[in-house]
Amino acid sequence: MSTAAAPMSDPFDLLDVDSLLSDEERDIRRTVRDFLAEHARPHIADWFERAVFPRELVGELGRLGVLGMHLSGYGCAGTSAVSYGLACLELEAVDSGLRSFVSVQGSLSMYSIRRYGSEEQKQQWLPKLAAGEAIGCFALTEPDHGSDPANMSTRAVRDGGDWILNGAKMWITNGGIADVATVWASTEEGIRGFLVPRGTPGFTTHDIERKLSMRASVTSELSFADVRLPDSARLPEARSLGAPLGCLNEARFGILFGALGAGRDSLQSALAYADSRVQFDRPIAGFQLTQGKFAGMAVSLNTGMLLALHLGRLKEAGRIRPEQISVGKLNNVRAALDVARECRTILGANGVSLEYPPLRHANNLESVLTYEGTEEIHTLVVGQALTGQSAFR
Ligand SMILES: Cc1cc2nc3c(=O)[nH]c(=O)nc-3n(C[C@H](O)[C@H](O)[C@H](O)COP(=O)(O)OP(=O)(O)OC[C@H]3O[C@@H](n4cnc5c(N)ncnc54)[C@H](O)[C@@H]3O)c2cc1C
Repeated sequence: MSTAAAPMSDPFDLLDVDSLLSDEERDIRRTVRDFLAEHARPHIADWFERAVFPRELVGELGRLGVLGMHLSGYGCAGTSAVSYGLACLELEAVDSGLRSFVSVQGSLSMYSIRRYGSEEQKQQWLPKLAAGEAIGCFALTEPDHGSDPANMSTRAVRDGGDWILNGAKMWITNGGIADVATVWASTEEGIRGFLVPRGTPGFTTHDIERKLSMRASVTSELSFADVRLPDSARLPEARSLGAPLGCLNEARFGILFGALGAGRDSLQSALAYADSRVQFDRPIAGFQLTQGKFAGMAVSLNTGMLLALHLGRLKEAGRIRPEQISVGKLNNVRAALDVARECRTILGANGVSLEYPPLRHANNLESVLTYEGTEEIHTLVVGQALTGQSAFR
């Protein structure tokens, strides 16, 4: 008697989370997925191998409406938080580098201007950034200060009505291609943010090469040598470290959806492979050990999706707390990374080839695990919420 049955059509939606989405959210997801299937998916392994960011996609992403899509006004689409999360998920199902571009552009560069900028700064930059006519970056990390940005060395000093900026930033996504950098610096008055346009005298960038992760994304070092800025370059509403941390919370929200996309794509490719790969006279999908892997991965991704959706609804209700975002980033990035690695094992030797996506996703997710707050830092955030004690120092 045959025990073969038609496989489930969508192993990523075992729990029917789709039924909890609105028609509009499903439409946005479909539009982003279709766009990427045509313009990005066929080329992504090549971009990754050659370490190329597809700059030609930026204008198209602007026309698609995903740049700063969860912000309102100034040419932004003003969608729900969940729609933004779903777009991040579709982008990261192709590559974390593409999702990183959209996260940095919308949640770090544009959000910093939308939330903390002057009216003039918003008018000058947001419509162009939303349309993909300009690129932004967000510079917080330094060579000697990553998890502990409060101790940053980059310094801005008042000089008459101007500021003089000195220092260096490291590991900055989009840095070398950005038209405007949101740069965080310590001042006598505390930590402040400045908008530094490309070409400002004394401001130089240097792209980081030989990355084993995020190869389809530009990551750069930024240097500031006596960069003179008018006071109008300062973000007037940013008055402490809370400002950049507020931006990071926005980006982390996109990540906790996005990472699941890398997991989904890995799972789909491993399922297809296991269905066609025959060993010991049967498809490897029929072995119990392989099915145990698939079941574990599907449970992990499906529960991760429920968590993401719940956090999305909390965000839409204006009730989400930073430690809840930490729970989501911790859980979903770890889940996606475990899934990508497990899928690699199912592909056997083929799993180490760029012809298949799991190891590319796993390599990318190593960065996702570290940036926007490392796994350890988010663990401490949750620990502090549970105990009331800070264990950061
Ligand atoms: C591809 C990529 C893109 C990036 N893009 C950007 C960007 O656009 N803008 C930006 O500003 N930054 C960016 N970053 C930087 C990223 O945010 C930092 O790498 C991250 O904050 C960690 O800092 P670090 O690398 O200096 O590690 P460190 O802070 O030196 O940490 C090293 C290790 O020590 C652990 N550790 C540190 N403090 C503690 C503690 N108190 N308790 C326990 N463990 C601790 C960390 O968890 C980690 O495991 C990017 C990084 C990568 C890899």
